[in-house]
Amino acid sequence: MKVAIFSTKPYDREFIEKANTTAGHEFSFFETSLRPTTVKLAGGHDAVCVFVNDVLSKEVIVSLSEIDVKAIVLRCAGFNNVDIEAACKNGFSVLRVPAYSPHAVAEHAVALIMTLNRKTHKAYNRVREGNFSIERLTGFELAGKTTGVIGTGKIGATFARIMKGFGCRVVAYDLYPDQELAGEGIYYLPLEEVFKQSDILSLHCPLTPDTHHVINKQCMKLMKKGVMLINTSRGQLIDSEAAIKALKKGQLGYLGIDVYEQEENLFFKDLSEVIIQDDKLMRLMTFPNVLITAHQAYFTDNALNQIAQITIQNLSDIENGQVNEKNRVCMDMVK
Ligand code: NAD
Repeated sequence: MKVAIFSTKPYDREFIEKANTTAGHEFSFFETSLRPTTVKLAGGHDAVCVFVNDVLSKEVIVSLSEIDVKAIVLRCAGFNNVDIEAACKNGFSVLRVPAYSPHAVAEHAVALIMTLNRKTHKAYNRVREGNFSIERLTGFELAGKTTGVIGTGKIGATFARIMKGFGCRVVAYDLYPDQELAGEGIYYLPLEEVFKQSDILSLHCPLTPDTHHVINKQCMKLMKKGVMLINTSRGQLIDSEAAIKALKKGQLGYLGIDVYEQEENLFFKDLSEVIIQDDKLMRLMTFPNVLITAHQAYFTDNALNQIAQITIQNLSDIENGQVNEKNRVCMDMVK
């Protein structure tokens, strides 16, 4: 199959080429993202292969259809960036990588918690400058604290189990509670109760119309003063403006985010010599109790390997007309 691969970095290319050695697909690698102004690059290809910040709006999908592209293959689990209705109407197969090492993301959420709490990022800088003072590095013990988990699918369940291992009381909310997890002593509660009881709250649900700004001004008022909020899921789950106000008041005690509402123009790029125009992100970066990483929670060698292998398999399956239905994104999943 001829495939136009968008938003590629050298590491993507390395893992994809390695996974393709026996499959023999032909690739055009583009560093740019797929969006209305770049869609023409997909001409002459059977499929496009995209990542989290590529834009597959109705306009892009119609353009892809006009240039005879037949399939959309995602190198990620989330599909909030694809207009699924438009894709289905235009006859596209849309395949994703529904699961690849949930440990990668769950462990990164824990890394954000541990860093924010024990301030190891600040200690590292102090000690390197010969400052061995430990003043203002006080942390708290996780054992005995209540951790709230919103969304207990593959990643949320893995995260919940890790936090239980730290000795936390773990409470959770999901539209579909996981009975196995409940049997392990994770307490499912109504969403409001999870907001009220959590000392640490971590988001692991997908971005859907229902979860857009699930963390907003109103619910932050329900939370414990000084709560730690962690988001490794999708940026638009949090109303950043409201989070800034809550941080200023001390209502939000810590914020650790691997994803950001407007990340598509920023993340995965080296903008160190550029004047960044995003005032909300720049404001967030000024708080001493905010830690931001640039969508790297998935970024382990194991996850990259699995993403590449499943993506190549998805392309081969489309070519052979035998798609793995578990990997297909369809209308039922967005209704
Ligand atoms: P999953 O489908 O296994 O689990 C999602 C869970 O969320 C399901 O149990 C579902 O029932 C629940 N859910 C759906 N709507 C909900 C709602 N309104 N309220 C509460 N729960 C709801 O997905 P996963 O593999 O665990 O991934 C979760 C999310 O993590 C993905 O959607 C993606 O956005 C994000 N992610 C981020 C990275 C990263 O690098 N930062 C990498 C992979 C995935």
